[in-house]
Amino acid sequence: MKAPPFAYAKPKSLAEAFELIERPGARILAGGQSLIPSLNMRLASPELLVDITGLNELKGIEPRPASLRIGALSTHAEIEKSEAVAKHAPLLAEAVKHIAHPAIRNRGTLGGSIALADPAAEYPACAMALNATIVLTGRRGERRVSATHFFKGLFETDIRPGEILTAAELPKVERSVFLELARRHGDYAIIGLAGVADASGKRLAFLGAGATPVLALHASREKSLEDAQRALGRDLDPPADLYHSSATKLHLAKVLLSRAWNTLSKPH
Ligand SMILES: Cc1cc2nc3c(=O)[nH]c(=O)nc-3n(C[C@H](O)[C@H](O)[C@H](O)COP(=O)(O)OP(=O)(O)OC[C@H]3O[C@@H](n4cnc5c(N)ncnc54)[C@H](O)[C@@H]3O)c2cc1C
Repeated sequence: MKAPPFAYAKPKSLAEAFELIERPGARILAGGQSLIPSLNMRLASPELLVDITGLNELKGIEPRPASLRIGALSTHAEIEKSEAVAKHAPLLAEAVKHIAHPAIRNRGTLGGSIALADPAAEYPACAMALNATIVLTGRRGERRVSATHFFKGLFETDIRPGEILTAAELPKVERSVFLELARRHGDYAIIGLAGVADASGKRLAFLGAGATPVLALHASREKSLEDAQRALGRDLDPPADLYHSSATKLHLAKVLLSRAWNTLSKPH
């Protein structure tokens, strides 16, 4: 199938982009790696695609004293190759290797993935584990939302009409682990774990485990692996998929937790 007809505009400034995305039926186009397939499958029929890839304000990866700011248009491939990401956000550096295949990684963007909020995607779970700050910009200025409050439901976020996700700021943490199980490398995860730890404790976020990335608050507080695995049953009620029951996914989540535990539990 082919995409339904649509108009196309490529703004040269944020101001022009805001004017365009407020038009009826307008939709932001970034890397197009999720939006274009959904058009081709006729799951979406926007009247106007606003291609934001010319906006330099949304590009660049910039280390700051306590965080790493990653522009929304940074592609998966740029993140994969970035020395700043490897040094300051190793969780993301690990996670990006699991995203799709090179052709998709060359075009897909961080902003597109976080805005789409697929619960099986890698970046949303990383953002949740790190409690990243999601930067949203509209005509009235900038709004900063913590990842904990950003993901609202299945493919649903706190982005308001007229806003563009411009960047994510990832706090630097001492230790992190990213693990996932997928049928083939590059497929969306069956289940995955983004975990971080510092002096204040652990934050464990699971992907493929609910309608949004799921923070395992009970398991994060436990001191032993056995208690944490037991507590995971209170944190997660993963939806079954075509091949795996909910119980299987919970079991796999416990397996990932056991693999991550030692790294996240080293003394500070
Ligand atoms: C075969 C295949 C396999 C894939 N496998 C994986 C995988 O394993 N893991 C994974 O995480 N992803 C996977 N993806 C998706 C891929 O990572 C996409 O790149 C990503 O989900 C969306 O990024 P994009 O830049 O392409 O966004 P687009 O497709 O351009 O946009 C996606 C959505 O976000 C909105 N949007 C985009 N940018 C912004 C912004 N800055 N502000 C506000 N809204 C915005 C758009 O309006 C649209 O609704 C796969 C895709 C394909 C086709």
